[in-house]
Amino acid sequence: MRIAVYPGSFDPMTKGHLDIIERGSKMFDKLVVAILVNSSKTPCFTTLERMEMIEESVKHLENVQVEHFEGLLVHYMEKNNYKYVLRGLRALADFENEFQMASMNKKLYPEIEVVILMTNIKYSFISSTLIREIIKFGGDLKDMVPELVYKKINQKYGRVNDEDNSAVK
Ligand code: ADP
Repeated sequence: MRIAVYPGSFDPMTKGHLDIIERGSKMFDKLVVAILVNSSKTPCFTTLERMEMIEESVKHLENVQVEHFEGLLVHYMEKNNYKYVLRGLRALADFENEFQMASMNKKLYPEIEVVILMTNIKYSFISSTLIREIIKFGGDLKDMVPELVYKKINQKYGRVNDEDNSAVK
């Protein structure tokens, strides 16, 4: 059985992430979305909130499950006997980072194989970092995050009007 791990912080999950998950789930028997828990950072959404949002957004995909891990990806993968990592690539800047990480992970865990999917051009400009910035200043995120994530952002950060996108603060 071919199992791939799609690791990331998913803080929050975007439509770019969802697109990679949907395409990745067709390539592997099972896809594990693995949330990196970084206890030295204060996230926008807790691990539990992120898990719930992802689980809900991928429930149409039978072979996708959500887990979380702390520490090194290679340790988590070795422990669970996972061999494939799935990543997404947006721009040239991503490439350097992905290349370095893939090489380091291969050095630490030679059995690993990293599979990289090109972004869907529709979502190529979306990153969780920018999404967090927009949340902070109350901008409109419709079409950039899955429907449920959009609702959660509105609930947690005060944009209460789902219908007409006006920032209600
Ligand atoms: P981000 O890089 O957006 O802060 P993550 O660390 O959660 O988010 O990213 C996890 C993986 O998803 C990385 O491989 C990243 O390149 C990829 N990814 C993130 N956003 C997109 C997107 N819009 N299209 C394709 N891949 C993406």
